[in-house]
Amino acid sequence: MCGIVAYIGPREAYPVLLKGLKRLEYRGYDSSGVALLNNGLKVYKKKGKVAELEESLVGKDLHAHAGIGHTRWATHGEPSDRNAHPHQSANGKLAMIHNGIIENYAQLKNELLKKGYSFKSDTDTEVLLNFIEDIQINNDCGLEEAVRIALKRVVGAYVIVLLDEDNPDTIIAARKGSPLVIGVGKGEHFLASDASPIIEYTKEVVYINDYELAIIKADELVLKNLGNEKITPFVQKLDMELAAIEKGGYDHFMLKEIFEQPDTIFDCLRGRLDIINNTITMAGVQNNIEQLKNANRIIIIACGTSWHAGLVAEYIIEELCRIPVEVEYASEFRYRNPVVHKGDVIIAISQSGETADTIVAIDKAKEQGAFIFGVVNVVGSSIARISHAGAYTHAGPEIGVASTKAFTAQLVVLTMIALKIAKEKNSINEERYAHLINELHNIPEKVKEVLLINDVVKNIAVKYKDATDALYLGRGYNFPIALEGALKLKEISYIHAEGYPAAEMKHGPIALVDENLPVVFVATKDIYHEKIISNVQEIKARKGKIIAVISSGDEIIPAMANDVMIVPEADEIVAPIISVIPLQLLSYYIGIAKGCDVDKPRNLAKSVTVE
Ligand code: GLU
Repeated sequence: MCGIVAYIGPREAYPVLLKGLKRLEYRGYDSSGVALLNNGLKVYKKKGKVAELEESLVGKDLHAHAGIGHTRWATHGEPSDRNAHPHQSANGKLAMIHNGIIENYAQLKNELLKKGYSFKSDTDTEVLLNFIEDIQINNDCGLEEAVRIALKRVVGAYVIVLLDEDNPDTIIAARKGSPLVIGVGKGEHFLASDASPIIEYTKEVVYINDYELAIIKADELVLKNLGNEKITPFVQKLDMELAAIEKGGYDHFMLKEIFEQPDTIFDCLRGRLDIINNTITMAGVQNNIEQLKNANRIIIIACGTSWHAGLVAEYIIEELCRIPVEVEYASEFRYRNPVVHKGDVIIAISQSGETADTIVAIDKAKEQGAFIFGVVNVVGSSIARISHAGAYTHAGPEIGVASTKAFTAQLVVLTMIALKIAKEKNSINEERYAHLINELHNIPEKVKEVLLINDVVKNIAVKYKDATDALYLGRGYNFPIALEGALKLKEISYIHAEGYPAAEMKHGPIALVDENLPVVFVATKDIYHEKIISNVQEIKARKGKIIAVISSGDEIIPAMANDVMIVPEADEIVAPIISVIPLQLLSYYIGIAKGCDVDKPRNLAKSVTVE
C-alpha cells in the first residue's frame, strides 16, 4: 500500500518523481505529494489522484536534484491535503514519506504533546517524523543517528524516506515490513516501493531488508543495520522490461492484463511442463520433494484473490495427492493460536510477495517448525526471500488493482505443484497424469478462445449494470471461482455480490432471489453438472436472472439462462483457469458501463502492506 519514490542525482528530480508516482499509483491514490530540496525544503501535496497534484504544480519553480514523492492509501486520518505525505517536521527542516503503520504512534504522540509539539495532520507518520526531530535536537546528533534511535522505539511496519534541509546531498531511508527497492544509476540513485519507477533509468537494484538503513548520496549508497554496522549492498539485475508496465494500447491495465493471460500462462508453463517426456520441472518442488510428499498436512495461507487460488488448490491437492489441506486467511491465522507441527507444509500465496499478514503468518508457522513454500509473482519480494522454497508465477508486473493474470498464473503453478507431488507420491495413475499435463499444455490456446467472447460479455454487462446485488454460484472446483467472480464485481463496479457453493444457496441466499437479482452460475461440464442444472432450475423457478458460464456443447443451460458465456471444454481440474476469465471480463465491462475507475477502485490498493 502506498507508493514511495525518491531521487538524488544530476537529473531534475520532479519529473522523475511525477512519472514514478504515476507508475505507483495502483498502490494507493487518495492523495499524493512531493518534497524537493532547492535552497530549502519545498513541500507540495494534494488530495486526489496524482494528476491533480500535477495540475496544481503547473507554473511552479520545481527545480531540484533531490526529492521524495508519495501516493497515499490512508490508514490514519482521512484522505485530505493536510494528511497527504510528505510531512514536514515541526522545525520545518525534515520531510518524510512513509508506507505502513506506526502502531505505537499514540504513545509517542502523547510524549511529544507533553513536550509542546503540535500536529498539523492526523497521521501516524507525522508523529514518527517529529519523534525523530525531537531525538535529533535532544541528542544533538545527525539525522542518521536520530532515525536509528527512533526506530528502536517504533512498533509497526514502515518504509520511511527522509530529506534534511541541512544535508541536501543525502537521502535517508529505512524499512521494516514494507518493500523498498533502490535503483543504482551512474552518479544517481532512485528509491521506490517497487521497480516500476526505476526500470527506465537503471536495471541495477538493491533490495533493502528489514531493520536496514540506507544513507544515499548521488554517488554513494551505504547500508547499515540498526546497530550502526555497515552491510555490503547486494546489487541485482532487474529482469523486467518497460513495456510490461505500460498500457500498450489498452484503455486500462485490467483489460490489458486479462488479455495477456494466454501469454502469462504460457510463460508460467514454459521450461516447466514437458509434454514430450511428461515431466514437470520445478526446482523448488524437486529439491524438497521428501518434505512435500510426506507432509502430514498442507496449510495454504493467503488473502483476497490469492486465497481463492488456495481454495482451488485445496481441491486439487486433496484429490491428486491425498494430503489433507487447510486454507487459511493469513490475517486470522496469524492472530489465533494455530496448531502447526514440524511435518506441516505451508504454501503461502501472494501476488506481490509483500502482503503484510501473510508475511507474519509465515514467520509464525516457521517458528513452529513448518516448512514454507512460497508462491509469489514478484521476484525477490519479501515472501520469496523468507520461504524455504517456492515457485514464481511469472505473470509479469500486475498493475490493475483487481488481480486477474496473477490469479490464473497462481492456479497454473499450484496445479503443477500438485501434479508433481502426486507423481512422486504415486497417488496418480500414469494415464490421468499424462492427460492433465496435456490439459495444462492446452490452456493458453483455450484462454485465447475464451477471449474471443469479449464482445458477448460486453453486451451482457450493459444489461446488468444497474443491478444492486448479484449472486455467484458454483460447485466443486468452480465454487472458488464463484467467490472470485463475486469479489471482482464488488471491487470493480461496487455492486454488492456474494459467492456461494451452489447447493448451499438453499440455506440462505435463495431468499434474495427475485426478478431483479442476477445469478451468475459457473457451470462448466464436470461431474456435478446435473446437480448444478437443478440449481439453475431452482433459481429460474423464482424468476432470478440467470447468467451462466458454460462449456461449449452444453444445450441444456442455454435453454434456461438469460445469458450465457461459452468457454471451451476442459478437465475439471484445469477448468477454473478458463471459467474465471469471462467473470473477469464481466466485472470489467460492468465497471466501465457504470463509469467506475476500474484500475483504481475506491478504497482499494494493490499490495496490502499494512495489516
Ligand atoms: N499510515 C500512513 C498514513 O496514514 C501511511 C499510509 C500509507 O502507507 O499510505 O498516512
